[in-house]
Amino acid sequence: MISMSRSDFPYLKEQDFANYPAVYVLIGGNKRYVGQAAGQSISLRLSQHFLKEDKAWVESVLFFARADGILTGGKRKLWRGEAVRLILRNEKYMGDALLQKTYTTDFLTKKRVKNDGSYAQQYYVENSHPAIIPRVIFIQAQQELDRRKSMKNKQSQCFSGKYALSGITVCGDCGNAYRRVHWKNRGTVWRCKSRVDKREHNCNGRTIYEKDLHEAIIKAINETLVVRDAFLQQLNDNINSVMTDGLTDRLGELDCQLKELEAEIISLAVGGQGYDELASKILALRDERDAVSKEIATDANMKQRIDEMEDFVKGHDAIVEYSEVLVRRLIEKVTIFEKNIVIDFKSGVSVTVDL
Ligand SMILES: [Zn+2]
Repeated sequence: MISMSRSDFPYLKEQDFANYPAVYVLIGGNKRYVGQAAGQSISLRLSQHFLKEDKAWVESVLFFARADGILTGGKRKLWRGEAVRLILRNEKYMGDALLQKTYTTDFLTKKRVKNDGSYAQQYYVENSHPAIIPRVIFIQAQQELDRRKSMKNKQSQCFSGKYALSGITVCGDCGNAYRRVHWKNRGTVWRCKSRVDKREHNCNGRTIYEKDLHEAIIKAINETLVVRDAFLQQLNDNINSVMTDGLTDRLGELDCQLKELEAEIISLAVGGQGYDELASKILALRDERDAVSKEIATDANMKQRIDEMEDFVKGHDAIVEYSEVLVRRLIEKVTIFEKNIVIDFKSGVSVTVDL
């Protein structure tokens, strides 16, 4: 990935990667423009942008150049997805940079130095260039990507996601996922994965008819509607428990402290007096700051889920039919026990249905 300022442009053409296709982001003030130069070199595309009056705001450019030219024809879409994932996973897009992480390009001397960590310690300087993605959104995206990844790992079934209950329905006995199985003549059932897969197993998880499972879900959703007031009160309690005002203040303080120390460390020579001490102080503050940020992001996610549940509860009467859409929207997890089913809603509320 290459970061350059607009004034570097005359020198870009002398770099080998100038002729590669690329995904790029134009940055200036609060504006961002994401584009891709496919079937065309990044330097040509940027020269077209820079000629135009309406791109006068652009101050700097970030881009991923690809030597393999994969950004052509049918694979275009694939690469775009890949680039978005890269952006979401790369701390640089948060406005932070791990200094010397990959290599630094000096556009004037055309020297490139790859840093494998052997010649200089790496320090992560925050807010070192404008963020494309605000920190809280960035961390939320990390959590969402992690959640999807762990979801994927849990279900080896290839048609995961086809049914809303796949992947969220688990065995109360052994913790494995429940799987939808079609039995000839006897209809569709859900069974614990360990019972489906293995002839020998230690699981006592029961087999449940799909229509019974759906019935339980309808019952649970309706329970949230019938006891509306009590339920809304419970949601309100949940909202109160995720209030983050104190955390936001703390985050501001930590950011201020870090900014000062980081300015200080940049002015010190690597390995010079007090350098290591200052560096470890910075690292400790960052750990705390990251923990606080994570907590704020988690709370923001939670608040959104609670709001959605509240909207639903306020705006609906009892349902009579099972709905895939509603399950996806409202339900986090369904656990099958021997005598009952526990339905955990995304809003943090649980309902137990005897069945
Ligand atoms: Zn089981």
